[in-house]
Amino acid sequence: MMSTSNLPAFEPLDPVGIDDLLTPDEKAVRASVRHLCAERVDPFVADWFERGVVDDVRGLAKELGALGLLGMHLEGYGCAGMSATEYGLACLELEASDSGIRSLVSVQGSLAMYAIWRWGSEEHKLEWLPRMASGEAIGCFGLTEPDIGSDPGSMRTRARRDGSDWVLDGRKMWITNGSVADVAVVWAQTDEGVRGFVVPTTTPGFSAPEIKHKQSLRASVTSELVLDGVRLPDAAALPEVRGLRGPLSCLNEARFGIVWGSMGAARSSLAAALSYAGERVQFGRPVSGFQLTQQKLVEMNLEYTKGVLLALHLGRRKDAGTLRPEQVSLGKLNNVREALEICRTARTVLGANGISLEYPVIRHMNNLESVLTYEGTVEMHTLVVGQAMTGQAAFR
Ligand code: FAD
Repeated sequence: MMSTSNLPAFEPLDPVGIDDLLTPDEKAVRASVRHLCAERVDPFVADWFERGVVDDVRGLAKELGALGLLGMHLEGYGCAGMSATEYGLACLELEASDSGIRSLVSVQGSLAMYAIWRWGSEEHKLEWLPRMASGEAIGCFGLTEPDIGSDPGSMRTRARRDGSDWVLDGRKMWITNGSVADVAVVWAQTDEGVRGFVVPTTTPGFSAPEIKHKQSLRASVTSELVLDGVRLPDAAALPEVRGLRGPLSCLNEARFGIVWGSMGAARSSLAAALSYAGERVQFGRPVSGFQLTQQKLVEMNLEYTKGVLLALHLGRRKDAGTLRPEQVSLGKLNNVREALEICRTARTVLGANGISLEYPVIRHMNNLESVLTYEGTVEMHTLVVGQAMTGQAAFR
């Protein structure tokens, strides 16, 4: 038998050595995000989740901004201009702490900032992007409505012309960062099709009551947006896009981050299960010594490893400019579903302790129920991939 003594050590949480595929710069980004999370999020996040608040969310946003994590894959206007893969690795680390914190960063960078960066005027970019990149200003992205989710083309929020102004009326629902936002990118029907509007949240007629009673993403602000005769100048409209292509392009950016982020929640739960199983003794031995537990740990690790490889492959394609939206759908569909399954299995390994916030597992598991639904549900991404495979749209 060949000796294994000269081989690199077997890393339980990187069993096939995916780290070999990362550059030193990518590893450095990962290490700096991991460090920030260990200092600034991990010691507090279970308490935030339990209380349903993020203490000093503005201070946290500034610290995330100082590390270049807000709009980190965008170029110019104070953004860090990092690669898609570096952005993905950051999302993984953030979500290993909590999906709510990753959501704060995703909505800020991939939805609100990306909408302005990709489709905004030079004035929009100069006014908002540097402040959003530093975390001084927080953004939100209003697409979903109380009666309209998966089918945004049917949205009811309307923007009508009044002289040279626009007047917006309607309601948005389930909007991440809404109540703490300084600026909202709001999508509305107009006579020219769906358009995006940059709405300072101090504008009269705008309010953002927080949604309470969530049992998921509790360490994240989720709000309703009420637009009651919100009067905006002509220049508030995003000039460069008409139709659903605008919001969908932003969602595609955010979904890419979820492909990675979901694997962070999975890794944290797997690590908790592995550690717990090594310490918990039943029938005179650690539960990690039982075949049934080992099978769970190995199955979790298989799906985690495959998920990270898929994320990395999609990241390389995005950096090469060859990533298709259907491929992002496939990645989001697989990785969130598998991450949730990993968390559920990890929960069983922890027994009764698995339901306690003393451990991260039930928090990740509950969070992933939101992640499974937002940015396109499992069903929507199945239909996107199904259409790409068959050429038949089965949405209606
Ligand atoms: P619906 O569209 O009503 O769907 C209900 C069910 O029917 C789902 O299972 C769906 O897959 C299924 N379904 C619908 N149509 C079909 C079909 N044709 N074929 C088969 N099945 C179908 N939105 C924003 O705009 N901005 C945000 O910042 C934001 N943050 C969020 C944060 C959280 C915590 C949550 C939970 C949601 C957030 N959302 C946000 C909203 C999210 O994007 C929507 O919930 C999502 O798009 C699904 O819409 P819905 O909940 O209205 O479900």
